[in-house]
Amino acid sequence: MTDRDDPLMIHDVIVVGSGIAGLSLAQELRAQGRAPLVLERARGVGGRCATRRVEDQPVDHGLAFLHGRSAPFLARLAATLGSAGNIGWPHAGAGTEAAFQPRAFDQGEWRYAPSDGVNGFAKRLAVGLDVRLETRVESLQLAADRGDIWELRIDTGERLHSRTVALTMPVPSVLALVRQIDPPHAVLGSMISSLESIRILPCLTVIARYADGTPVPSWEASYSRASESRVVQAVLHDSSKRAGSPKLVLVIQGRPECSQSHLHDPPEVWTRMLIEEAAAVHGDWARTPDFVQSHRWRDAFVDVGTELAAPLVSTFDGGAVLGIAGDGLHSSGGAEGAYLSGVALSERLVRRIPA
Ligand SMILES: Cc1cc2nc3c(=O)[nH]c(=O)nc-3n(C[C@H](O)[C@H](O)[C@H](O)COP(=O)(O)OP(=O)(O)OC[C@H]3O[C@@H](n4cnc5c(N)ncnc54)[C@H](O)[C@@H]3O)c2cc1C
Repeated sequence: MTDRDDPLMIHDVIVVGSGIAGLSLAQELRAQGRAPLVLERARGVGGRCATRRVEDQPVDHGLAFLHGRSAPFLARLAATLGSAGNIGWPHAGAGTEAAFQPRAFDQGEWRYAPSDGVNGFAKRLAVGLDVRLETRVESLQLAADRGDIWELRIDTGERLHSRTVALTMPVPSVLALVRQIDPPHAVLGSMISSLESIRILPCLTVIARYADGTPVPSWEASYSRASESRVVQAVLHDSSKRAGSPKLVLVIQGRPECSQSHLHDPPEVWTRMLIEEAAAVHGDWARTPDFVQSHRWRDAFVDVGTELAAPLVSTFDGGAVLGIAGDGLHSSGGAEGAYLSGVALSERLVRRIPA
């Protein structure tokens, strides 16, 4: 959408990030008649709601399943996933610790593990949106001599403009952008200190696939207490979500403290360590996968209890509006918090954007 009296091409709203927060925000804005442009640095949408294909078999190597209890999120999951939702997974557990999001197994909590992977939820949520992939935002500044328009510099050198910008990346990436805003406006100070109070944890993750004939575990997810393992937080029996005759695939998630201390080590070091630990807990068979892939999530989850209650939004002196949403900006946390923060930010933004 352009503003005819302005020499710059002005987009109605620019949303940075196409994780669950960015997509829910953009869909709500679209439903209110706005024309959001979503910018995403990766090759696909979804962010941490991530699925890889290992010889065509989907494997969820970030968020393992979607869960929540709020009516708007559950309604969206049901409407978006339909019969592909695989409701209830994981059913059978091993180990004694709660899931990373401690409420995931509470009464009243619904769990969904889409058969085509959790990323299928993000892909369906993106339908109808104007999403520009492989577009990394490198800087955000007010346009020269004006306080009403943001200028976003993209990695290609291109510059995009809008009165209203919403940042929905993980908190450290949001902070990296807003700290560069020059001159540092008064309203930014309180935004930055609120964001700095959110604690982000890393997660080293290993996908391990096993040869045909390996005994298939009876459990779907196994969570260990710190006293049981200082290395592994969870082992997800990912292939138990899939229909047909999938190959046995586990996803092993490192404990946050262990992930932090090995974050800068070469992947082969911690990959072997996580596999050895999974074998120590679950049996020797787990020691010899026939295929392994690893992923270093620097900003995996928000430490429970450090989330802000709601998204942030500020109007600058000249009228430019900056909003911030994401899993750290809603008290529900996790994917549900990301979704709800996007919805909440859309309500706040539409009140501030000129019609
Ligand atoms: C291993 C793991 C396990 C998890 N387990 C659970 C769980 O059990 N329960 C639960 O609820 N949650 C869990 N989570 C967390 C959950 O996945 C996240 O809370 C949720 O997906 C966050 O969504 P988001 O939209 O806020 O952020 P993201 O999904 O991170 O989306 C942000 C997007 O911004 C993009 N981006 C970043 N920088 C830029 C830039 N400069 N320009 C353009 N685009 C940019 C990124 O590529 C990304 O697509 C887990 C996460 C991981 C990694």
